[in-house]
Amino acid sequence: MATGVRDIAVIGCGALGLTSGLLLQRAGADVTIYAKETPPNVRSSLATGVWSPDSRICLEEHATPAFRQMWERMARESFRTYQTLLGLPGDPVEFIDNYAVWDPADWSRKDSSSADQRPPFARLQSELISDLAPHTENYAPGSHPFGTRFVQQDSMMMFNLTAYARLLISDFLANRGRIEVMEFHTPADFASLRQKTLINATGFGARALFGDESVTPVRGQLARAIPQPDIHYGLNYKDVFFVPRRDGLVFQVVGDNDYYGFNDDTTIPDRAEAEHAVNTIAGLYTAAS
Ligand SMILES: Cc1cc2nc3c(=O)[nH]c(=O)nc-3n(C[C@H](O)[C@H](O)[C@H](O)COP(=O)(O)OP(=O)(O)OC[C@H]3O[C@@H](n4cnc5c(N)ncnc54)[C@H](O)[C@@H]3O)c2cc1C
Repeated sequence: MATGVRDIAVIGCGALGLTSGLLLQRAGADVTIYAKETPPNVRSSLATGVWSPDSRICLEEHATPAFRQMWERMARESFRTYQTLLGLPGDPVEFIDNYAVWDPADWSRKDSSSADQRPPFARLQSELISDLAPHTENYAPGSHPFGTRFVQQDSMMMFNLTAYARLLISDFLANRGRIEVMEFHTPADFASLRQKTLINATGFGARALFGDESVTPVRGQLARAIPQPDIHYGLNYKDVFFVPRRDGLVFQVVGDNDYYGFNDDTTIPDRAEAEHAVNTIAGLYTAAS
């Protein structure tokens, strides 16, 4: 903004392109988004939908003091900003209670370090912003409906992505933003744009467009079930995550460490994994436990 330029283009119409556009508008810019695809046909619309600001963002060995400081500032700003969207129609953002459930044999091992030999990811959320989440609550066997298991409750911020994407788009358009469908094959294609100041929000597309090999793919797969408005709580059990999204329940195998799906750019659905996710959560509700 210091250059005085006010006619700005954003390349990409996922969560980050739309958010960049809105922030630019609030700073007084006139914004056009150019993108090959728009929601719901972007990867952002396929996310799990939880606020997870340190998820695979940085290896511990690269988390310098300066990076930690910047990350903390960004995470606190993000957390504060999303709270301005609580209570809106369609609940684009809401808080849920989340219950981590362990079988007795797994409970004693839950804090032991992973056997994975690869360098660990930085755990910035617990280290730097644990004050933002209410304290966890432990429930011993007998004090909850899951039999002899151990249960730990915390709360988390959840995004109902259908409502959230619509809100981003309608706010962007209401501020006189424009969205044009356009594909760029090389950076030289940007010369055809009227705007000379561009924000790159192409997500994983940056790899092909800019040859940016530093963008690492992470495979994840959701199994979705029809919405059940009476279910308001999340679950973690045996490396499966369940999120009670209003726009459809989410079941996801998350693996036993952050390298699950890391550097895997395949997108073919795996039905066996989807069934495993649903059946693992269903297993919590069988009588024998
Ligand atoms: C299964 C799964 C679960 C996830 N869960 C979470 C979660 O719970 N919480 C979380 O914070 N994150 C989660 N993520 C990560 C999150 O989805 C992404 O980090 C985020 O959506 C990226 O947004 P984006 O706007 O950068 O990219 P995208 O949504 O991919 O948007 C990129 C945009 O750029 C456009 N584009 C790309 N290349 C070109 C080109 N050459 N020409 C023109 N346009 C182009 C696309 O058409 C699109 O509009 C998850 C991801 C996956 C796969």
